Amino acid sequence: MAGHANQSYYSSNALLYSNVETFTFRTEIDQPLSLVISTFYSNEDIFLRELISNASDAHDKINVERKLLEELCIRIVPDRAAKTLSIIDSGVGMTKSDLVDHLGTIMRSGTKEFMETLDAGSTHIPMIGQFGVGFYSAYLVAHKVVITTKHNNDEQYIWESQGGRSFTITLDTTNKPIRRGTKITLSLKDDHLQYLEEDRLKDLIKKYSEFIAYPIYLLTEKTTEGDIGHDKDQHGDIEEIDDKGKKKKKKVSFDEKLGRGELHEWVEINEQRHIRLHDLKGVTREECNSLYKFLTNDCKDYLAVKHFSVEDDLQFKAIVFVPFHVPVDPFNMRKKLNNIKVYMRRVFITDNCEELIPEWLGFIKGIVDSNDLPLNISREMLQQNEILKVIRKVLVKKCIEMFFEIADNKDDYAKFYDAFSKNIKLGIHEDSENRAKLADLLRYHSTKSGDEMTSLKDYVTRMKEGQTDIYYITGDSDKVVENSPFPEQLKKKGYEVLLNVDAIDEYVMGKLKEYNSKKFVSASGSRKIS
Ligand code: ADP
Repeated sequence: MAGHANQSYYSSNALLYSNVETFTFRTEIDQPLSLVISTFYSNEDIFLRELISNASDAHDKINVERKLLEELCIRIVPDRAAKTLSIIDSGVGMTKSDLVDHLGTIMRSGTKEFMETLDAGSTHIPMIGQFGVGFYSAYLVAHKVVITTKHNNDEQYIWESQGGRSFTITLDTTNKPIRRGTKITLSLKDDHLQYLEEDRLKDLIKKYSEFIAYPIYLLTEKTTEGDIGHDKDQHGDIEEIDDKGKKKKKKVSFDEKLGRGELHEWVEINEQRHIRLHDLKGVTREECNSLYKFLTNDCKDYLAVKHFSVEDDLQFKAIVFVPFHVPVDPFNMRKKLNNIKVYMRRVFITDNCEELIPEWLGFIKGIVDSNDLPLNISREMLQQNEILKVIRKVLVKKCIEMFFEIADNKDDYAKFYDAFSKNIKLGIHEDSENRAKLADLLRYHSTKSGDEMTSLKDYVTRMKEGQTDIYYITGDSDKVVENSPFPEQLKKKGYEVLLNVDAIDEYVMGKLKEYNSKKFVSASGSRKIS
């Protein structure tokens, strides 16, 4: 239980505040809340992610029929005049004792040790989610938080705190009754009013909470000039969403004299919320494309997609895409990669995790969603995480599988190879573990392949009796073939020669040395052909 303090504090307002009780936060750490919170979070933006996640969890906790589940939504209301931002859910709500227990204890047991671990610079990062600090991130941006909540088993209460050492709980007889759920209102600090801006809020919701399973509505405001026609009639309580959340209520206040009105409208932000991350069965190409475009802003469709989930000690799901074309800056491979977005339980954590995918797969776009990642940690800490190494290994394996799947379709593979053959070759150079497998993805023109390209596997099946090596010619093929004495010899023997081999291929062949126990031999070199 939180400490029960100073009930008489409000006694001068006895009539109005007769139900007010003041409590002190229970905490293991003797440090101001703001300091504790800033240790956990290096980025203030995440406060909204945390509150939306709590709202989503609160919806998960109610046992309602599927039909009713569809009515649940999360609403975000910026109020520029009052300088407040509210997050409203119709979830399970909190009883009075929930408010005391869940919001009265700043982080649960073990936190002290955890903070000490951080201080000691340990690389073993426990799951921060278990410490229950998400809610308090509100104080990164707010100087006061007021929560109005109603649980089915209790009355409606108001929890209020300025983030110091105490909070109050009041039986709510003043506000409109809530059917069930929670409204969290943040009084923003004066230097954090940017969190009232529509675009900023949209961006934050899209970035962090796009895959939250419940619709997230943002209350938007537009000034309308002149005649606003039938919209004029749509007055009403804007905090309600009509018609099971599908038809969004509008509210218009029209100033006849000025000929201007304010149009308030709910806009659903998280359009990808329907995407199932656990499998793609039943997901249409259109839905996949919409996900791809959300992730990449690519105006073209994707070339290939693969979904997989891992259910080992470490559980995660991933969707990876191959784009149609080379990214804008294909040669600047050393540049920071941010093509794989990492989520934990559908909540965005980072897209700046270079350890997650090797450079040669820098063109792959996708998402990883895990239950096991430490949620609230900074990028630096995430990079030290052992879990990433496991995910990286699986990602590489699955991407290679996807390339082989593309190879089943000649046309698609030709497009793929045209765009990304350099990456495959870089992979052969860098990835000794997968080198042999990647060799099967190579394609070359040859003296026998005509317009098409041949794989090494096919080359080997066509090898003549007694032929022990794989021959290739470096440089512009036609001229080299004309001028080189060796291809003549090879031709006579009926040996096939791989053509158009450029500098990077020589490098690759140097690394591979052989394919299927057949050595690579340069036919343009001085070596005598046996
Ligand atoms: P965590 O979510 O990691 O447990 P938080 O500090 O974010 O930690 O929240 C503490 C607890 O407060 C939650 O576990 C939940 O029981 C309760 N809570 C927070 N927000 C809500 C909400 N919108 N509706 C119902 N309960 C909530």
